[in-house]
Amino acid sequence: MRFSELLITTLREDPADAEVPSHRLLARAGFVFKTASGIYTYSPLMWRCLKKISQIVREEIDRGGGQEMMMPILQPKELWKSSGRWDRYVTDGIMFALQDRRATDLCLGPTHEEVVTAFADAMISSYKQLPVNLYQIQDKFRDEIRPRFGIMRGREFIMMDAYSFDEAQEGLDISYEKMAAAYRRIFARCGLEFSAVQADAGAIGGSGSEEFMVLADTGEDAIITCAGCGYAANVEKAESAIELVDAGEPLEAEEHATPDVRTVEQLVEFFDMPASRMAKTVLYQAVHAESEEFVAVLMRGDLDINEVKLCNAVDCLAVKMADEEQVKALTSAELGFAGPNGLPEKVKLFADRSLEKQSNLLTGCNKSGFHKLNVNLGRDCPDPEFHDLRMAKAGEACPDCSAALTETRGIEVGHIFKLGTKYSKAMEATFMGRDGKPTPFTMGCYGIGVSRTAAAAVEQNHDARGIIWPAPIAPFEVVVAIVDVKREAQVSLAGEIYESLLEAGIDACLDDRKMSPGSKFKDLELLGFPLQVTVGRKADDRVVEFIQRKAGDKEEVAAEDALPRCLSFLRP
Ligand code: ATP
Ligand code: MG
Repeated sequence: MRFSELLITTLREDPADAEVPSHRLLARAGFVFKTASGIYTYSPLMWRCLKKISQIVREEIDRGGGQEMMMPILQPKELWKSSGRWDRYVTDGIMFALQDRRATDLCLGPTHEEVVTAFADAMISSYKQLPVNLYQIQDKFRDEIRPRFGIMRGREFIMMDAYSFDEAQEGLDISYEKMAAAYRRIFARCGLEFSAVQADAGAIGGSGSEEFMVLADTGEDAIITCAGCGYAANVEKAESAIELVDAGEPLEAEEHATPDVRTVEQLVEFFDMPASRMAKTVLYQAVHAESEEFVAVLMRGDLDINEVKLCNAVDCLAVKMADEEQVKALTSAELGFAGPNGLPEKVKLFADRSLEKQSNLLTGCNKSGFHKLNVNLGRDCPDPEFHDLRMAKAGEACPDCSAALTETRGIEVGHIFKLGTKYSKAMEATFMGRDGKPTPFTMGCYGIGVSRTAAAAVEQNHDARGIIWPAPIAPFEVVVAIVDVKREAQVSLAGEIYESLLEAGIDACLDDRKMSPGSKFKDLELLGFPLQVTVGRKADDRVVEFIQRKAGDKEEVAAEDALPRCLSFLRP
């Protein structure tokens, strides 16, 4: 491809709303154009990257036994009613719901479990047709609360979504492992540094859920890892071991006047007592499908509540911290004095495991200006339900090997998930089992954010001058740049090298744009092609410059050496 025939427009200014490098660089290099909030147009160069990522995804999922297909984006409400997800998705506001001219409700697919389960139910009648793994690469639609970081979190984005159907759990375990292996090959082939981490499996439960994270400081997800044994988990799910506090034999509870002493820090000072001797009481509103309730959570003073774990423990759809008015109504006290004793009976009490055996706690007592010392759970308040509700932190001990945990950040580019029979049971999607009985499919679902992967690649690979595309997903592998297009010697030598690269199967392009050498080099650094062959003043002597974008190395080489140099870099 000759640049003179390609639409390339780079901008001088960063977009005003760009918070992260990938957004800034992709916009400035003209790869993406914001059509509306969270909705982007991909330029011809960007589309080349996305097609390369899609092709890698396709090849590796195919190798793992997947079958590519295409499902409709427009989906009827009835399907989502049959799985029981319509109301929640509409209330959450994540789904783009619409009506046709007959006022029939439809939605733009945020995901395709319903459509694919109905398809499998219609197409698969016997266990003899199993296992099956179906996938597509398609635009998904989600009305994200906060679309941001450009194409990283869009409202329309490209996803590979796959769904496996098996006879039973053993089959699912195999299908899942195959997909995990395919994902590893995919992200490795894309040239990305990534990590597979344990993820929260939510209300569906089970052990089978992992996220694939591209490691980057600006990532939205926090990951807890152990260098000792390789344990890695999303902080939403991560566990850790901590030292428990021994506060001795239970003592008699004492009420203390603590005017204006509300926070853990203030209590530490007032009582001259470590935060680990305290239990803070936090009130939450738990949202269920058809109802809402208040729950109280007891957490050791020096530790933090993990709301994802809390949501799982309460077995609800979402939790929201109670607001000031709600706290006052429930505790009959000012903010800062909530305690486990004397709450309304309907408020269920949960506590973190760190408090399970701890005696003589300092807590609030639902009385403005007072706290209670030597509170013993079960004796001075109802018995709470104990769960791991704690946010694991760097420095705490690994749950598996006790080495110190560390925290890093990542961008979730893929997710694999053992669904089991959640959808097949709800939608009565069955096949004839070996025993001749209708049996619900055992399913897995798997997603890769294709467009997000491109953004994550830039987030991980850039410098002050621009993007540094990993070669396997770069819009072109090599750019042959003509310094002065008015010089015949440069034009013809560049053309010769360009042709030789194409003939060798290299995805090369020719920058034959008429512009000053300085702006051209700046532009090419911003665009981020992995290799550049510059044909300039020394074209008469058949000498060119070979540049590796990442290392920044520039070297004069004979024109004849340009091809072997490119080959040894790209196809070692
Ligand atoms: P997140 O927690 O980032 O919102 P998710 O858990 O909603 O992700 P899934 O439903 O598992 O994501 O979707 C599969 C993949 O699709 C994700 O791993 C991610 O790479 C990608 N993805 C999800 N939402 C978006 C989005 N709004 N924009 C771009 N890619 C997305
Ligand atoms: Mg999401």
